[in-house]
Amino acid sequence: VDINNINIDNKTCIIEGEDVKHISKVLRCSVGDNLEICDKNNNEYICEITDIDKKNVFLKIVEKVDINRESKLKVKVYQGLPKGQKLDLIIQKLTEVGVSEIIPVVTKRSVAKIDDKKEDKKLERWERIIYEGAKQSKRGLIPKIKGPLTFKDALIDMKNNDINIVAYEKEDKLKLKDALKAQNINSIGIFVGPEGGFEEEEIDKLKESGVKCVGLGPRILRTETASIVLASIVMYELAD
Ligand code: SAM
Repeated sequence: VDINNINIDNKTCIIEGEDVKHISKVLRCSVGDNLEICDKNNNEYICEITDIDKKNVFLKIVEKVDINRESKLKVKVYQGLPKGQKLDLIIQKLTEVGVSEIIPVVTKRSVAKIDDKKEDKKLERWERIIYEGAKQSKRGLIPKIKGPLTFKDALIDMKNNDINIVAYEKEDKLKLKDALKAQNINSIGIFVGPEGGFEEEEIDKLKESGVKCVGLGPRILRTETASIVLASIVMYELAD
């Protein structure tokens, strides 16, 4: 359950923090019930609850689950900052799909503005959504989120990825499946524009920096649909 607050000590461990309330009040677990937990190293265990108090859940490890739900492929999504709370849905779904990092990016047509006073609170909310999403899909690694970054900083950040692609609705030459044919891809960056799309100048800058421009077909997808669909296809095609 709780990936941060776990102390594995031989065959026992203790859960602390907010998950204690969730386990006892929401899941209504009690002594003798089984829980599936995951440590920071992406190991999963079946555990039996041996005791619960207000601050701790005490567990005995019954068995290690031999399963790895994490791919070696690192997918980073550079999401053009959308309006309102749309990003909440995007990060929840991208977490389920299996991406490793989500970076909101302020582009020329991003309507949402950065308000320094509110950014810490927003980041906290996004981290919470990711954490809940990771628990729901039983992920061992919690995707990272940072930013929002400026477009310029996103261009610097993406240099660490093996390849980068940008979804552009006006691209009709390069198909996604051809862009993904490169060998030995361990990390990939995906750029998706906000509601209004990318400006041509931004697409030119991405292309100059070596980003492959791909079309996703003749229908125009909403920004949230484009992100989730593109990340899913990339995971399906490249992840082990
Ligand atoms: N304002 C644009 C228009 O009306 O043509 C549409 C932008 S779309 C709502 C938002 C983002 O989703 C785009 O910037 C692009 O990254 C991605 N996208 C949506 N449909 C796409 C498609 N058919 N091919 C490639 N990218 C697409």
